[in-house]
Amino acid sequence: MLNEVLNEIKKRERFVLTSHARPDGDAVGSTLACGELLRRMGKKPEIIFRDGVPRVYQQLPFAASVVHLERVNGNYDAAILLECDNLQRTRLEGLERYFLINIDHHKSGRNFAHLNWIDPKAVATGELVYRLARAAGVEISPEIATCLYTAVLTDTGSFMFEGTNEHTFELARELVLAGADPALCARHIYFGHSTAKLRLLGAALSALQREGPLTWIWVTQEQMERAGAKEEDCEGLVNYALSIGDVEVAVFFRELPDGRFRVSLRSKGKLDVAHIAEEFGGGGHACASGCSVDGPLHAAVERVLGKIRPQLALTSGW
Ligand code: 5GP
Repeated sequence: MLNEVLNEIKKRERFVLTSHARPDGDAVGSTLACGELLRRMGKKPEIIFRDGVPRVYQQLPFAASVVHLERVNGNYDAAILLECDNLQRTRLEGLERYFLINIDHHKSGRNFAHLNWIDPKAVATGELVYRLARAAGVEISPEIATCLYTAVLTDTGSFMFEGTNEHTFELARELVLAGADPALCARHIYFGHSTAKLRLLGAALSALQREGPLTWIWVTQEQMERAGAKEEDCEGLVNYALSIGDVEVAVFFRELPDGRFRVSLRSKGKLDVAHIAEEFGGGGHACASGCSVDGPLHAAVERVLGKIRPQLALTSGW
């Protein structure tokens, strides 16, 4: 499939590149790197995201070139979607009229495009972009390496998630040799937060709930307003809940302006939370997934926990 993707790229000139809304490190890093790869192949890429680049990724090379729009209507020969397992998750309108190339590593990835390169064994979509660059004979510049290292670092949970193996470190080594600075990448991502995020974290953790191996937290619109927090300030809060020693699964509920809830699920490995998210029309990975559910809060919590409790009872005898 790698060669097919490369051949389809070679045939064309103008590309629009995008990823899912609320882009994370792999979405931003793999898309920026792919854009530069195309430029180095003599192509004309443009990166369009529905949402802006989150604060912690704004220092990445080429991040300033990202355009954010609600509708795509340029004169492109193809659209490349990275790290995005369906068209709706881009929250962009107008993409369906282009030749679509889907490059993804989600287990829940779907063949929605004309060409679908989905490899769930890759730890990040950035890994696939790396392979594409190598196959295209494009040198991994320090800028491309920095974007791809960020993609790998974030999607492996700082090399902590299941699936991280010797190949991940080989890839990281290649990227560092090509010019990625691990300390600088980590500093931007883990020490680049807003004050509002930390205030919101405090509010969420002070109300944390726990039932044996299961824990959950939430933030409401009102709490976000009080803290002066943005949507992106909610990224990663769920990991603090999962960090409790004998917790297996953590869930984070974020109230949306329309009263629905975005749900982030995290597991230490015993429970496949992609299956839980899929039950609500979402998806993701075995250890990190997401979905949306109707409010109010107590109903959202009960619906999601109602699916997790029996599964946890089966897997961890709880
Ligand atoms: P997060 O909880 O950080 O939003 O998402 C965790 C993982 O689940 C990411 O890999 C993300 O792409 C995936 N994910 C989150 N929400 C959804 C969703 O609504 N649909 C699908 N298919 N995947 C999702």
